[in-house]
Amino acid sequence: MISIHNLHKSFDQLDVLKGINLQVDKGNVVVVIGPSGSGKTTLLRCLNVLEEPTKGVISIGDQTLDFSRRIGKKEIAAFRRETGMVFQGYNLFPHMTALENVMEGPITVKKENKDEVRKKAEALLGKVGLGDKKDFYPFQLSGGQQQRVGIARALAMEPNVMLFDEPTSALDPELVGEVLKVMKDLAAEGMTMVVVTHEMRFAREVANEVIFMENGFVVERGGPEEVFGAPKEERTKEFLRMIQ
Ligand code: ADP
Repeated sequence: MISIHNLHKSFDQLDVLKGINLQVDKGNVVVVIGPSGSGKTTLLRCLNVLEEPTKGVISIGDQTLDFSRRIGKKEIAAFRRETGMVFQGYNLFPHMTALENVMEGPITVKKENKDEVRKKAEALLGKVGLGDKKDFYPFQLSGGQQQRVGIARALAMEPNVMLFDEPTSALDPELVGEVLKVMKDLAAEGMTMVVVTHEMRFAREVANEVIFMENGFVVERGGPEEVFGAPKEERTKEFLRMIQ
């Protein structure tokens, strides 16, 4: 479903991604871990071209972009539709209800029929456990509820892949579980996911593969048992000791 080949990203003189290679099979969940500043967010943002890679090739679904050549806006827009992204902050439109937030993309971007979009959006809010909150505005919802609206909003665009950038790190501890539960359910349904998170229990339970990044490189990768239980690289061991 995802194939990343020799992905580089620099900001001026700063090389942030230094040749990332990654394959994610359909239905698999990859969890990306690593110290702050190692390039995890930049990798996710490159996957939906919120940042334009300096070079490399990314394929998602049946779309491929080769960043060593010039790419048109239309190609980027089509590519972006392969993925839905959930951010650390909730990024909901404050003046729209939960339902309107979820309906916005399919109506404005995909020009879908409003009645059908409403039905789909209501079903998605039900799926994330917010069927009774559809007419609430973001300020009337807890952080965990807002983040679940954010997940429903991304799903409304019917992406092939969901990208999560530390989706629970801004939440009070008691609200983390409800968001992770929605993500676990999505994984169990077969959604392909790339998740940047510090939630190691989630990674152990849900990830097919864990990737440890440092300084723009993938330092170690493997199943959660291998990476958490028997890390090979000294830097991975050190990171795991620090966060546990
Ligand atoms: P992580 O998610 O692992 O904490 P990031 O991908 O956010 O790491 O950042 C990696 C490095 O790239 C950091 O040194 C950060 O300061 C730098 N960086 C990220 N975005 C930008 C940007 N838009 N302009 C300049 N530097 C950036």
